[in-house]
Amino acid sequence: MLRLMHVHAHPDDESSKGAASTVKYVHEGVDVHVVTCTGGERGSILNPKMERPDVLANITEIRRAEMEAAREILGVTQHWLGYVDSGWPEGDPKPPLPEGCFGLVDPEEAAEPLVRLIRSVRPHVVTTYDENGGYPHPDHIMCHQVSMVAFEAAGDPDRFPDAGEPWKPFKLYYQHGFNRPRSVAIHEAMEAEGLESPFAERLQEWKPDPAHDARITTRVPCGEYFEVRDRALIAHATQIDPDGFFFKAPLALQQRVWPTEEFELVVSRVESPLPEDDLFAGVRGRDDLD
Ligand SMILES: [Zn+2]
Repeated sequence: MLRLMHVHAHPDDESSKGAASTVKYVHEGVDVHVVTCTGGERGSILNPKMERPDVLANITEIRRAEMEAAREILGVTQHWLGYVDSGWPEGDPKPPLPEGCFGLVDPEEAAEPLVRLIRSVRPHVVTTYDENGGYPHPDHIMCHQVSMVAFEAAGDPDRFPDAGEPWKPFKLYYQHGFNRPRSVAIHEAMEAEGLESPFAERLQEWKPDPAHDARITTRVPCGEYFEVRDRALIAHATQIDPDGFFFKAPLALQQRVWPTEEFELVVSRVESPLPEDDLFAGVRGRDDLD
């Protein structure tokens, strides 16, 4: 049985990044695990319908329940790493991060629970964010750092010797789902159909970065699972406005214009010619899989 592990910063990231690929692999019988580094305790409420005092007072419990609903919809096993959300620092200059938060941990130490999980789940493929976190939230950047330490340390018997039997995953990927070319393609298709594009403003501020786009190595076809992805996102009711940005582009248009999710292969211990369309390329069908 193939095993895939996604490492994410907050509850909801597993549904907003690479979620349709997740569902596709679950559908194929892959054992998919989502690791959530923080509890999302400092996430702002991004859905006006949930902006209520009772929600604010119980945000940690509510986000746990939302995550439970999302993981049921996606069909994954989910693990909390137990770190505390850093929050999005607002202001100029930005205020210091709150004491004890995930953004301030030492990744060399904080990798231990993730090493333990990698050694017990034994994923063949691991995904995380790039060095910029995908977007510069301190928890996303720390998620990258902790993932990189854990990915290497998990296979090294001299590192964290009390955290289980060493395990070396075959491949490591960065998530690239929010790439500019995708936004441009959907934006242009919406304009062509006379629809109001939610990307117009963003694209003006989002400068082209061909070097970053060129890092994409892997496009996973997963359009038929966009509907499930959207249901998982909506389960994060405090974070996602069902009338908001995410849902403005009609599903059929997305499926026609951009039916894939993108990844960057960063480490591979198997032969897998690029570009590829499968996170398990070079892994699938090996006779030494265990
Ligand atoms: Zn996040």
